[in-house]
Amino acid sequence: MAEASGEEYLFKIVVIGDSAVGKSNLLSRFTRDEFDHNSKATIGVEFQTQVLEVDGKEVKAQVWDTAGQERFRAVTSAYYRGAVGALVVYDITRRITFDSVKPRFSISSDILIFRNQNAAHCDTAVTRMLVGNKLDLESIREVTTEEGTELAEEEGMFFIETSALDSTNVNKAFEIVIRDIYEKVSRKIL
Ligand code: GDP
Ligand code: MG
Repeated sequence: MAEASGEEYLFKIVVIGDSAVGKSNLLSRFTRDEFDHNSKATIGVEFQTQVLEVDGKEVKAQVWDTAGQERFRAVTSAYYRGAVGALVVYDITRRITFDSVKPRFSISSDILIFRNQNAAHCDTAVTRMLVGNKLDLESIREVTTEEGTELAEEEGMFFIETSALDSTNVNKAFEIVIRDIYEKVSRKIL
């Protein structure tokens, strides 16, 4: 959903990744500047909206949480439909969550690209950002920054490491994605 009506923009962005990597907390940090220490698997909440100003224009980011669907390994296509941005999250302290990014992501990206491929949209891929979360737990890190950088380069994605707990790079992650989408939309290639 990259809609421009007058000077208003609405972008649908999805957050993907294994259970407990911090997806919901990244989202609540970004939209409400809140962190929940006891967060349960997300149920029910579908998306949250945050308004940003980009180049003097109002941009609404509608960020979708998985609403617990990741537990069933079958996030429905409705979740991806119309998305123009994706944050693919792993936990830097659990290698297994990094290992599952690649297969998971290639499936997701196909869906994302497919959904956006109509005549007007041609080859433009969805803006994708690989996010290594829980940077505050550096002492028990299992995935190096270099590994993250490398995977992102291979996949043609942005890369960032974040902490939803102490706020490091959370806004930056979303803002880079939103600005990139905005630039594509304003050049009319999305
Ligand atoms: P989700 O299942 O991917 O939505 O993950 P949640 O946002 O529910 O977070 C799962 C667990 O990780 C919770 O116990 C959070 O408190 C914790 N968590 C999330 N982000 C961070 C972070 O940046 N640092 C630390 N130390 N813990 C985090
Ligand atoms: Mg969640």
